[in-house]
Amino acid sequence: MDFTMNRMFMQDEYFSAFLHALPEAFLVLSEQREVLYVNQAWTKMTGYTQEELARVFPMYIPEEKLHLYKLKQEKQHLPIEISVMHKNGHPIILLFRPFLLPWEDIGFVVKDITKERRIEQKLYEVKQQLHSFVQHSNDSITLFAKDYSIINVSKSFESITGFRPEELISDPNLVIPEGYVDQRKIHFKTVLETGETTMFRTKRRHKAGHSFDASITYSPIRNKAGEIIGVASAMRNIAEKVRIETQLWEAKELLESFVKSTTDAIVMLDLNGKIMSYNPAFKKIYGYTAFEVDQNINQMFEPAYVDDLSDKIHRTIRGESFHDIQVSCTRSDGQQIDVLCTCIPIRNNLGTIIAIAIITKDVTEQKKTAEALKDSEAKYRLITENMTDLIAILDRRGTYTYVSPSFFTILGYKPESIIGLHYKDLVHTEDLPRLYTRRRKMITHGSVMQMEIRYLCATGEWMYLEANGTPIRDEKGRVEHFVFVARNITERKQAEELLRNSDKLSMIGELAAGVAHEIRNPLTALRGFIQLLQASETKNKFYFDVMITELDRINFIVSELLVLSKPQVQHYKQTNVLHIIRDVITLLESQALLHNVMFHIEGATNELTITCEENQIKQVFINIVKNAIEAMPNGGTITIDTTQEGNHIQICFKDQGCGIPKERFDKLGEPFYTTKDKGTGLGLMVSNKIIRDHHGHFTIDSVMDEGTTVCVHLPLTFIKQ
Ligand code: ADP
Ligand code: MG
Repeated sequence: MDFTMNRMFMQDEYFSAFLHALPEAFLVLSEQREVLYVNQAWTKMTGYTQEELARVFPMYIPEEKLHLYKLKQEKQHLPIEISVMHKNGHPIILLFRPFLLPWEDIGFVVKDITKERRIEQKLYEVKQQLHSFVQHSNDSITLFAKDYSIINVSKSFESITGFRPEELISDPNLVIPEGYVDQRKIHFKTVLETGETTMFRTKRRHKAGHSFDASITYSPIRNKAGEIIGVASAMRNIAEKVRIETQLWEAKELLESFVKSTTDAIVMLDLNGKIMSYNPAFKKIYGYTAFEVDQNINQMFEPAYVDDLSDKIHRTIRGESFHDIQVSCTRSDGQQIDVLCTCIPIRNNLGTIIAIAIITKDVTEQKKTAEALKDSEAKYRLITENMTDLIAILDRRGTYTYVSPSFFTILGYKPESIIGLHYKDLVHTEDLPRLYTRRRKMITHGSVMQMEIRYLCATGEWMYLEANGTPIRDEKGRVEHFVFVARNITERKQAEELLRNSDKLSMIGELAAGVAHEIRNPLTALRGFIQLLQASETKNKFYFDVMITELDRINFIVSELLVLSKPQVQHYKQTNVLHIIRDVITLLESQALLHNVMFHIEGATNELTITCEENQIKQVFINIVKNAIEAMPNGGTITIDTTQEGNHIQICFKDQGCGIPKERFDKLGEPFYTTKDKGTGLGLMVSNKIIRDHHGHFTIDSVMDEGTTVCVHLPLTFIKQ
């Protein structure tokens, strides 16, 4: 018996085979911490054989963890949990169940509880996490038992509803407004019956009295066996979300109504280039729907445009955008149209491209108008640039903004050198005050202004301009620009000067008349005395006759001078034109003789009456005859032919002089045009004026080196018999 109760017992073949085969690890230690025995299960569990364990044991399990002496003293042995290392190096948790062997040694049945401990640990962590999730979730989480009694309420309940969790526990329907209880009941019941999570929108009551939009999710709580034992509810205040949704909806509505009503065509494409939607304007512009366009794209657009467009669409999908691409295409009705095309990517709030929009605007009309405008502008420019009148546009303040090229040809200024100058820079200072008043009048009355000004030329000379100013107003009626059209009137001015000069001449004539008067009186005396002498003296009768004739001639000429010199006294009377011709011939006879010129009278001999200022008509005839005499330095004949033609008469003066070259014809009648050294160049001009005053006209015909015929046409006056 003694034998059986000592250590040797373990060396018994049968017993040790039994211990070895035990699935549980078995370990025997002596009170001195010697490893006496380990079975196979131990070795499998820890990796250590008996010899190996014997070597490391005191270190492997320190004395304070496994106090063998104390174990021996105690009657009640509780299992001891010790963390050790597996021979591989990973930690394991072992549960040692000690039992005292009948001899002095101590045995242990050892169990590896690493897995159990790990699961427990995990479970604990999950529990902790769940707890903290429930407590800290922004949603209010409530756990209900199947009977709707409350198991747990998260803290956030208070922040959402204003009520404390305890208040809810005592009244589970605390935050449900009247009329919503049934809804809650139905959802709760559904979850319990179907086991499916449901989510619904509803109203909940706040402690402050108002109600708010809430979203509630009910999920079933199941036990290990999968049976539903309650419901977890998550409640969220979605007032803000509802507000944003409403805003979003409104924005969307707005956008949609814009897209629908805009005159630009808008197409949305997905990222594969497929049409998602298009607006009504699309059909209006193209005559096709967007889908039809997609099918007819090659028919509608030139191939070059199609390639370019599809390239741009692909690049838009990748994030580029394109604005106002010019495209021309053919509408469904065959009409050519021009469009401006804009491609832009559409991104979601994360910036990811979700679609692209193609917006096209019909610019056919615009283009046409622009072209027409360009056209008319070009025409207008052509006119202004080629006009000999000076054209200038000035802004409201009087600064030149445009001047025509004629500023160069007429005044000698390069147009660009005038731009920016003020109008007063180039106008004669004496003319400025008048210009100011006219300009003010033009602005206030809106009237067109016309005035003569002296304008500075590039050469430093002054040029007379006749300027016409027109104010151009904007749509509000304010004067925006002035347009000035001016023309050089220097020549006209000179002509006027000339007329004034001829006035002066007539003044001199008047003076001469006075003188003539003074001559006539002594002449009368002389004639009287000569006649007296003639009566008493018989010897030199011939001389006396000559003296008397010559005195009569002087008298005649002087009295003619007297008549001629009163042009300003207009005194129309009925006169026989033939008498005038006769008088003119008498007046010029001696001069004609001097130049070896003869007069030859032809035509009518009857009385031809005209209503005229006799002296003026005489002046005309004298002019014409003098010209004829002067044209024949070597003598010749002047034929004066008077004919009646209906109610007109025609008096032609035909000479045999040098003639007038054709190219000079236009110059005749221009003031100061003369080919003579002592000529005035006034004769024809004054004659022309007089004949016109008498409602007649002039014709001049000339053959070089043969002679000139000047004809005067005058209306005839019929005297009642
Ligand atoms: P003036 O006699 O002072 O030169 P006019 O006006 O009378 O001025 O004439 C202008 C010019 O017309 C003359 O200088 C002359 O060249 C030309 N002319 C006028 N009459 C004749 C004519 N009968 N024959 C040739 N030339 C003429
Ligand atoms: Mg003359």
